[in-house]
Amino acid sequence: MDLPPANRVRATRPGTPLPDLARGAQPPARATAPEGIGLDSQAVRSRMVRKLTEQGIADAQVLGALEAVERHRFVDSALVNQAYEDTSLPIGLGQTISKPSVVARMLELLLGGTTDGSGRLGRVLEIGTGCGYQAAVLSRLAKEVYSIERLRALHEKARANLRPFRLANVHLLLADGMAGFAKGAPYAGIIAAAGGEAVPLAWIEQLAVGGRIVAPMLTPAGGQALVVLEKTPREMKQSVLEAVHFVPLKSGIA
Ligand code: SAH
Repeated sequence: MDLPPANRVRATRPGTPLPDLARGAQPPARATAPEGIGLDSQAVRSRMVRKLTEQGIADAQVLGALEAVERHRFVDSALVNQAYEDTSLPIGLGQTISKPSVVARMLELLLGGTTDGSGRLGRVLEIGTGCGYQAAVLSRLAKEVYSIERLRALHEKARANLRPFRLANVHLLLADGMAGFAKGAPYAGIIAAAGGEAVPLAWIEQLAVGGRIVAPMLTPAGGQALVVLEKTPREMKQSVLEAVHFVPLKSGIA
């Protein structure tokens, strides 16, 4: 059901550097505000970021990127009123957009690795583009983002979602991310939004020395935990962190 115009979120603010609507690019999905709130989406995002800060996210770059990217443009119109809640949401084909606190946590861990002095990561590989939201956030934290999706329909959805943002440093690939993407290697960081039994060897090979992999991984008990792997000149250091719930990492494309 369509809400009256008064309840619509103003999707962009003057001066927001993201989508270029004036030049005939695809208009934003009309966003509807939760009944009775009537805030513009920037205010709702600022509130989301304040909550993330209260939950212990401290990296100013990560918080700034989450504050800037309009998450409501990546979810179906029926779910727009939940876009800034700390919840994962369905994006079709049984897949989900991760909840903001998990995206923030993983990006903070990824940035804990080497940056090039500008405070920005160099090239980053993302496994599991999904709807493209995290790729848009990453585009503000890394020089180049290579993002792989194995499901054609989601790869295309992400392409359509990202088009109005005109992010020249995001490269979307339809492929099996378990093989990584050798042409973009070595990566300063690799981040996965789907969890398997082990971190594929290709990711370790394609990681730069000093870089980090942040990924969910199955635990022997049958759950999933967040894992950080750091590549030193001599070894891979592994830290197993908190329990998480991601979709499974699957092989092949479909
Ligand atoms: N970061 C995404 C989250 C998507 S959910 C977002 O912001 O929306 C995880 C995604 O990983 C799913 O779309 C799933 O299809 C994908 N995936 C699972 N195994 C994969 C693989 N081997 N290669 C590439 N993508 C994979």
